Amino acid sequence: MTKMGNSRIYVSSPDMGGSEQKFVKQAFDTNWVAPLGPNVDGFENTLEEYLKEESSVAALSSGTAALHLALILLGVERGDEVICQSMTFSASANPIVYQGASPVFVDSEKDTWSICPNHLEEAIKDRISKGKKPKAIIGVHIYGMPFKVDEIKAISEKYEIPLVEDAAEALGSTYNNQKCGTFGDISILSFNGNKIITTSGGGALVSKDKNIKKRAIFLATQARDEASHYQHSEIGYNYRLSNICAGIGRGQMEVLDEHVLLRREMNQFYKDIFKNKEGISVFSEPSDKYFSNHWLSCVVVDESLTGFSSEAIRLALQKDNIEARPLWKPMHLQPIFSKAPYYGNQISENLFNNGVCLPSGSNLTASEKQRIKKVLTNFV
Ligand SMILES: *Cc1c(COP(=O)(O)O)cnc(C)c1O
Repeated sequence: MTKMGNSRIYVSSPDMGGSEQKFVKQAFDTNWVAPLGPNVDGFENTLEEYLKEESSVAALSSGTAALHLALILLGVERGDEVICQSMTFSASANPIVYQGASPVFVDSEKDTWSICPNHLEEAIKDRISKGKKPKAIIGVHIYGMPFKVDEIKAISEKYEIPLVEDAAEALGSTYNNQKCGTFGDISILSFNGNKIITTSGGGALVSKDKNIKKRAIFLATQARDEASHYQHSEIGYNYRLSNICAGIGRGQMEVLDEHVLLRREMNQFYKDIFKNKEGISVFSEPSDKYFSNHWLSCVVVDESLTGFSSEAIRLALQKDNIEARPLWKPMHLQPIFSKAPYYGNQISENLFNNGVCLPSGSNLTASEKQRIKKVLTNFV
């Protein structure tokens, strides 16, 4: 035990359930220390049962790898355009560039902070009028909040542009009682260290089509043709999940629902703290249709009513060694994407300028919550 001040509280940190080491030990005991084996198969089966909707799951080395393979499987090639939600983590957009294609960014709307149907349709029409029909649409359930699935799917179908559902932050969230991760033509999940469950690093590609799963695994394991010698007719990748990491994933699946409940409790915790505070709103579901895992709990501050900014909240917490973070900086404001086309109306900019993510983990102790509460109530 350290006597030096308060220990660090993180926005989101790994939370082990208990069985993870049992599955990892099994891998060692049976010498399946490889990017395939019983844990990989078991983890995929558990995810398929969890997601339902006849999902086929390919376990991969990261969510980024899953997005990359999703674009390859949808035929995205050099010179193509792909529409992507602007307010997201850079990993949603980078794989577009890996393929030599160009991103076209679309703003969020204020209910879900995710891809705006109106600006999406505006972008599609404008790109078509300029002579290039986008090859795919990447929608992101940001911070675990489902995007407007019905509206976005309707546009995807109307223009016959496939939807890639980035559910990296939304495992355990539902829309109309259906699990996020089952809405895309191809969907992806992430099990990075900061996500709602973790394999230390990992991801998955989800589809209703067993052949897509097969193709994803083929590409993820160096695209070896069926021959005893090493023969290749396509470019392959080394994107499969390790059997060790998959063991962690199997243990984590046992506590996923509990993690969702605990993260939702954190969201309620902040709602209670800010209940009577005009000008501070906690990011919440717009209606009963939406059920968020509340991967991260975020607040938006209206400085004209509060007299202080979201950044001031972040700094107050930091003083007490409590981590808080600004919201995702929209991709169209990133130096690397400054030349990319953008369709929108300041929603994501305003969120970025006035929002902050607060500690949201499923493993925060009562005394850590007390510390957070004390700083926030003293501050406001
Ligand atoms: C974490 C994340 C990813 C990338 O997942 P990795 O497993 O870290 O590669 C992609 N998209 C979003 C929205 C994410 O939050």
